[in-house]
Amino acid sequence: MQQDRIEGFSEALEAELKRHGISRRDALKLAGLSGAAFMLNPTKSDAATKAHASSKAKGKIVIVGGGAAGCTMANYLVKKLSNPDITVIEPDPQSVSYQPGQTLIAGGVYKPEDILGETKEYLPKEAKWIQDIVVEFDPEKNQVATSKNGVISYDYLIVAVGLQLNYSDIKGVTKEMIGTNGIGSIYFKEGAKKTWQILQEFVAKAKSGQKVNGVFTHPGTPIKCGGAPKKIMYLTHDRLVEAKARENATLTFYPNGGNMFGVPEYHEAIVNQYKARDMKWHYKHDLIEVDSSAKIAKFNHHYLVQGEWDEDLEEYDMIPQSEVIEIPYDFLHITPPMSAPDVVGKSLLSWQRGSAAVGGWVEVDKNTLQHARFPNVFALGDVAGIPMGKTGGSVRKQYTVCGDNLVAVMEGKEPKESYEGYTVCPLITGIGTVMMAEFDYTAKMTPSFPLLDPTKERWMWWFLKVYMLKPMYFHGMLKGRA
Ligand SMILES: Cc1cc2nc3c(=O)[nH]c(=O)nc-3n(C[C@H](O)[C@H](O)[C@H](O)COP(=O)(O)OP(=O)(O)OC[C@H]3O[C@@H](n4cnc5c(N)ncnc54)[C@H](O)[C@@H]3O)c2cc1C
Repeated sequence: MQQDRIEGFSEALEAELKRHGISRRDALKLAGLSGAAFMLNPTKSDAATKAHASSKAKGKIVIVGGGAAGCTMANYLVKKLSNPDITVIEPDPQSVSYQPGQTLIAGGVYKPEDILGETKEYLPKEAKWIQDIVVEFDPEKNQVATSKNGVISYDYLIVAVGLQLNYSDIKGVTKEMIGTNGIGSIYFKEGAKKTWQILQEFVAKAKSGQKVNGVFTHPGTPIKCGGAPKKIMYLTHDRLVEAKARENATLTFYPNGGNMFGVPEYHEAIVNQYKARDMKWHYKHDLIEVDSSAKIAKFNHHYLVQGEWDEDLEEYDMIPQSEVIEIPYDFLHITPPMSAPDVVGKSLLSWQRGSAAVGGWVEVDKNTLQHARFPNVFALGDVAGIPMGKTGGSVRKQYTVCGDNLVAVMEGKEPKESYEGYTVCPLITGIGTVMMAEFDYTAKMTPSFPLLDPTKERWMWWFLKVYMLKPMYFHGMLKGRA
């Protein structure tokens, strides 16, 4: 481990602990395991960087998007290439802010300012930052068009533009409505802040003796951090318990899908956690409309009913049915449908087989992260069209693969590194407990500590989630060294 990495991390951790009133002594008690856990599935970045630091490969690299994935890539590549020529196009001066902390802001654990990160402090000084937005991708001409800086050509392109929140796909909903009429949503900074207000109003109502209804949604599209819609529900439960008002609230989860989690063991664990907390759920409910003045959420409830016996197939036909269900709410937490940003979805970079159905994600090989049709293009992070893993934890495993494969292509070699789909979802199950759900493309559990039952909620993982992952993100991953 490099000296600057250790120093940067310990300073940040020390500050974080101090802010939360935890002594270094208490922290050290935990460090036996948590200290090791913060290195959860360590990347091979240090070793790889050393091995490849002297690559003399040349070419102009343009990285579009300087968030978690783009910034990390830029830092990794300036270490790998002896003559890096890297341009990052990113409009947001705080693009590297720590999004996983938004759930904790909405739960009243973090303050809004705790997650902020200044782009200029994290992008490498060896890279050129153009503070602008790409309005068109033209991979046939190897160029992108920007809104203020004209057309920019490249030899190699990395697409890291994250994803788009499509609130308006739900009738009656706009992003601006979040924070009014009992509606919360943790998916953007301001929304997270306002959700904490709404959540407190909800708890106060329950505490005053009113019977209240909390409704939590999960759409039918891929979303970033699949556990987040449930995390905010668990935090709401705990805030109600804390206020001694839990018995006055009904909390119900309405996912579009038919289970709680794609990995059976985690699904089972979550079902049991819900039962233990008297939290309810109804599968196959897609939020289609909100009447905010009447505080009614409308869902398309879809299901299959058994039809005729099919003699040829020797099974019953299953007939799709649906009905609109109206649910009154006092607190509605909306997880919006998500897609690739339109600029990607309408370009040749996106999956070409009916991009509406697949969200416009970039068509990359799920292992090499190289584009299927444009070999000088790679994508990582939320925008990558791979089967799972729209998390910062996935980015942490993707960036060395993406960076090493890009450099291989620049050197005229075949990309050999493979991303196997590892992702991690620290599922906050309450204030003080987290279940560390780690898994990969095989939809099997891939625990970093196989001796510990990964389906157990533990305070140790809460400690890791709340106090250690943020400094690790800012001082390790973003700088391309953890
Ligand atoms: C509420 C919430 C909870 C989460 N919890 C967790 C968690 O517990 N664990 C975990 O690992 N992950 C979690 N995540 C997910 C994680 O934060 C994301 O997966 C990660 O940030 C993805 O990185 P990215 O670089 O792909 O996207 P982003 O970090 O969103 O960056 C994309 C960047 O692209 C820029 N951009 C967009 N369009 C353009 C354009 N046209 N031109 C130029 N630039 C553009 C944007 O300004 C942005 O800065 C959570 C996210 C949220 C919102």
